[in-house]
Amino acid sequence: MAYVIAKPCIGVKDTACVVVCPVDVIHPTADERNFNEVDQLFIDGRDCTCCGLCVGECPVSAIFNEDELPVDSQSFIEKNAAYYKDHPKIAP
Ligand code: SF4
Ligand code: SF4
Repeated sequence: MAYVIAKPCIGVKDTACVVVCPVDVIHPTADERNFNEVDQLFIDGRDCTCCGLCVGECPVSAIFNEDELPVDSQSFIEKNAAYYKDHPKIAP
């Protein structure tokens, strides 16, 4: 189980969630070179501790517990995971 970033983040990307994540599993951060290439940010579900701190920081309520993700947003589980397949760990 992990947290997932869904559609409302698209085009917003204000990185408020990145600042509060205690285990640095939300990417890309604003200083990563591919930040401008992605339409949203993604959570690395392998290391997310499910602390929930990011949820309250998001101005557009884009972050969900995977188990509570709306039916029409289920594809974002794979979209978040896919980012980390393409970008193993943290991009320099
Ligand atoms: S739930 Fe906690 S560990 Fe997981 S992405 Fe959010 S702040 Fe980070
Ligand atoms: S706080 Fe919300 S809108 Fe901002 S980057 Fe994180 S998920 Fe996207």
